[in-house]
Amino acid sequence: MKRALVLGGGGFIGNHLVKRLKNKGYMVVAVDLKYPEFDTTSADEFIIADLRRQDVVKEIFTKDFDEVYQLAADMGGAGFIFTGENDADIMHNSAQININVAETLKHSKTKLFYSSSACIYPEENQIDAQNPNCAEDSAFPANPDSEYGWEKLFSERLYTSYARNYGLNVRIARFHNIFGPLGTYIGGREKAPAAIARKVAEATNGDAIEVWGSGEQTRSFLYIDECLEGIDRLMTSEVREPINIGSAEMVTINELTHMVIALSGKDLSIKNIDGPIGVNGRCSDNRLIASLLYWQPNYPLQQGMEILYNWVHSKL
Ligand code: NAD
Repeated sequence: MKRALVLGGGGFIGNHLVKRLKNKGYMVVAVDLKYPEFDTTSADEFIIADLRRQDVVKEIFTKDFDEVYQLAADMGGAGFIFTGENDADIMHNSAQININVAETLKHSKTKLFYSSSACIYPEENQIDAQNPNCAEDSAFPANPDSEYGWEKLFSERLYTSYARNYGLNVRIARFHNIFGPLGTYIGGREKAPAAIARKVAEATNGDAIEVWGSGEQTRSFLYIDECLEGIDRLMTSEVREPINIGSAEMVTINELTHMVIALSGKDLSIKNIDGPIGVNGRCSDNRLIASLLYWQPNYPLQQGMEILYNWVHSKL
């Protein structure tokens, strides 16, 4: 039986990943500051611990694992990342976790997965909302638009340095806006799909849904099941360079909102208001993943949003 460790296993993606690994027959240990918010964990063992502490990380790694999935990070949606108020914590907390993990695994043969982000791409390549450049090789010269993106880029380079100098066996994915049930939908750390689903679910006929910015900013959103499929395919590959895992179906935020309004069957309009929006345009460039893994996500956004909307609606 293979043994997997999921760091951040109480988070949105980590909790889903634990389930998938269990379904594949793994023995799974999960670590997080907290249990999953909307679910009970499927992990064989769930350790509540702070991964910023190196002694804690060392203790966890005294057990042997075939695979380690490093998803723990201090993160949130635009309302958390782009206000500037959380920058120091974002940089310090996530970098500390990654330094601890890299250092502890440096002489090990364990295969490590690291979750980076589309937020590493340079701001100036994402000014034209209809034509953003998020090809993997456009990452440098670097200029992410948030400290969250800078930390992710630092940690990508941290892990690839450990691979170069100590033989660390690492796979790195740049996730693009992962969404689905069992994720945060309220409280300030929620992302656009869950926030919009909540606002629409709470609205009554005649209401206007508030959308940050002009609503013409573009993004692509990847349904959680395809994110897990991408992680699986990357981990079983020999691809050592950072690779996008995202959808190539690009929409404006207003289009996404209209989609959810139509799914709800309600008579609602949109009101665009001031708010943190991040870059003007962003969409996963899937040429590299298609050529290296012979696969790319293709689940329609509308189907995923329907599942998310129904789940958020059921929670309210
Ligand atoms: P999440 O916030 O739900 O999960 C992260 C988990 O890490 C949380 O449960 C949190 O409690 C835990 N954590 C934070 N600090 C910790 C610490 N000091 N010790 C132990 N645990 C700690 O986020 P998610 O959406 O599941 O994302 C998982 C990973 O994927 C993150 O690294 C994130 O940056 C990355 N990512 C996610 C997306 C997305 O759209 N969800 C996009 C790009 C990258």
